[in-house]
Amino acid sequence: MKQEYIGSLDIGGTKTIAAICGTDGTIYEKMQFPTNRMDYVAHFTNCCAILHKLGEKKRITIESLLGVGINMPGMMDYSRGLLLHAPFASWKDLPVRDFFRNLLKKDTVFIDNDVKSCALGEKYFGLKNKYKDYIWVTISTGIGAALVLDGKIYRGNNNLAGELGHIKVEFNNPRICTCGKKGCLEAYASGTAITKSVLQAIEKNPSFIQKLDAKAYSHDAKGCGELAAEGDRIALGIYSDAAEYMARGFASVINLINPQAIILGGGVVNSIDLFLPEIQKRIKNYAVDQASETEIVKTRLGYEAALIGTIALVLENL
Ligand SMILES: [Zn+2]
Repeated sequence: MKQEYIGSLDIGGTKTIAAICGTDGTIYEKMQFPTNRMDYVAHFTNCCAILHKLGEKKRITIESLLGVGINMPGMMDYSRGLLLHAPFASWKDLPVRDFFRNLLKKDTVFIDNDVKSCALGEKYFGLKNKYKDYIWVTISTGIGAALVLDGKIYRGNNNLAGELGHIKVEFNNPRICTCGKKGCLEAYASGTAITKSVLQAIEKNPSFIQKLDAKAYSHDAKGCGELAAEGDRIALGIYSDAAEYMARGFASVINLINPQAIILGGGVVNSIDLFLPEIQKRIKNYAVDQASETEIVKTRLGYEAALIGTIALVLENL
């Protein structure tokens, strides 16, 4: 079969990746550059110029691409192609789909939120058709999720479905969340939250910092994960607490949706690996017995999940 090509833009809060990919998930040409948060017009225009350049390298035109898939790091109104809000910048109510369709002179440009793209990427290139009802969860700076029900993305009334990070998991002296409310999962189990727990542990226990420093591990969620993998008691305790809160949050979703799986991705996922059995076990404390059979698994997409997701975004919508 003749290979067809797709243009990809994964626009993140700090960096953007442009790529020319194949419909089979192969990444042929790729370039990473900083996201210009101050001037979105300049940034989006630059993204298109880079896509043209990568196309030239591969000797294909934008016109010949099957489509272009673009991720936005914020809340999208998919049906109207509107970026509602990207919290890291002052990007608000931007008609991004029309903007890119005009700039690229192409109708098959599809734009969605990055977590939703990851969820679609799993269907095409990750665990493939193993599950048809699943929740794709990204655990990194924050916690976001996308619901795939009967093989399709579920968006909800105001495109707000999937705000898993703001499900309440603690009511007793709760931490304040970035959303302004208290006791959210994100405030206990995100990379930022785990790093906060690491810093608190360092304050309470000076020997902890010595252990991190002895191995040249960073004073954050990643360093703590590495120490936990070696069996350090304090590091294990920090991740065990996060696992408890994940179990509480996931159980609420499991009781409501009864998905086949919760698929975990994002920067913290490699440290979480060790705790998947613990999360699975603790879910049984909170979810109804039959529903707690939901599998908690790691994404098959790896580090490039969001970029691979843009290919799926085009395939899903053509
Ligand atoms: Zn919150």
